[in-house]
Amino acid sequence: MKWYTGVGVLSVVGLEMETNQRLQSLRRAADNGQRIVGCVYPAFPTELFLAHKMLPSLLWADSNVPSAFEASLQTFCCSFARNLFSQRANNLLTPLAALFFPGNRCDSLQNLGDIWRFRFPEDTVLRLTYPSSGKSEAAITYLTEELRSLSRTIEELFGLPFSQKEFHRAVGLTAQFLSATQFIAAARLLQPQVLPYTEFAEQFCRFLTTPDSESLLQLENTASSIRQTLNKLQLVTSTEALSYALLHQEFGDIMIPPDTSYLRIAVIGGMIDPEAFAVLFNNAVSDNSINAEIVLDLFSFSFRTVFAQPPRLQGNPFKAIAQSLLSHYTEPTQEGLPERLGFLKNILPKLAIDGLIICEQSFCDPDGFVAPAVASIVAKTGIPTTRLYLDAELSDRGRLESKIQSFLEILKTS
Ligand code: SF4
Repeated sequence: MKWYTGVGVLSVVGLEMETNQRLQSLRRAADNGQRIVGCVYPAFPTELFLAHKMLPSLLWADSNVPSAFEASLQTFCCSFARNLFSQRANNLLTPLAALFFPGNRCDSLQNLGDIWRFRFPEDTVLRLTYPSSGKSEAAITYLTEELRSLSRTIEELFGLPFSQKEFHRAVGLTAQFLSATQFIAAARLLQPQVLPYTEFAEQFCRFLTTPDSESLLQLENTASSIRQTLNKLQLVTSTEALSYALLHQEFGDIMIPPDTSYLRIAVIGGMIDPEAFAVLFNNAVSDNSINAEIVLDLFSFSFRTVFAQPPRLQGNPFKAIAQSLLSHYTEPTQEGLPERLGFLKNILPKLAIDGLIICEQSFCDPDGFVAPAVASIVAKTGIPTTRLYLDAELSDRGRLESKIQSFLEILKTS
């Protein structure tokens, strides 16, 4: 079968993100004969695919591919879904063995998966239907059986049985990835100077694109170097406590003191590309010499993917993967809005956030539903917010950067 994933360059004004190390590493994996599964949703069952000797790879929007009107897709489809479809329709992509869609997440993804099967019948489309929300026993049991069924399908289609040995190896990989990224994220909350957000985003996006030992090594080296820096500042214990608090949502008396020497910015949104956003933000900051850092990123592709538990090695592996998937923070495609709002209201003041940028993907219903509620709840904390409506191509970059600049200027003078 032939199916492809984006090879374009994430270009953003003033900076052409040189080709995407993430896609280069994916291409290398493809050249090495890896069977790649393109995943259109961040909380995909990494360990399940790896246990079948397939490499799951998160697919990204490509800002160089216009999301032209596509008559097959429903009008409600978001710009992210349209961009993926356009990449496929234009054959701009690297070979994939299969494509993975989530069920029961959002209408756009449902429609995209349905239309994909229809328009590209030669492609192998896999689907996993998630429970709508919750971590109840019923939800875990349901997802366990869905994963078992997906595993059977993969074996039938590709003749690749589930390997316990590969599963163990995959759990080790995920556990190390989560440990390194959680530490870096917590370190950046305390001391963002230890690593520019752009580099952090590049490294974890690369791992999500190619979850292998090479991508992991880069993150582990970064975490180790940051640990040495923090050790000198005697901040390792605080960083670990913060990482634990973020993972378990137990903040107790954790409180980061305010720092007036720079603006501490948090960003939130659904399926927004962290690397692309980082470049927009950098452009906005550098044009205006504003001292501001993104210290907390609550996008689906980053925070919600990084702060989760790896599967346990004991017992039923499908249940272990189900529990791990359901340990992720809930996101706009899931129920649980009161829980998300309560979490935000609790943590933003504790983390000394000076301003929150709320990103909305163009025509994304979940983002559109959640953004007003987020703005309203955060207003009660006294922390200023701004809403940024952006499409997958960042086609209105000048306006976006100006809006970020204006927001930072207001924060600076208030
Ligand atoms: S969650 Fe939003 S951005 Fe993601 S596929 Fe659904 S509609 Fe599109």
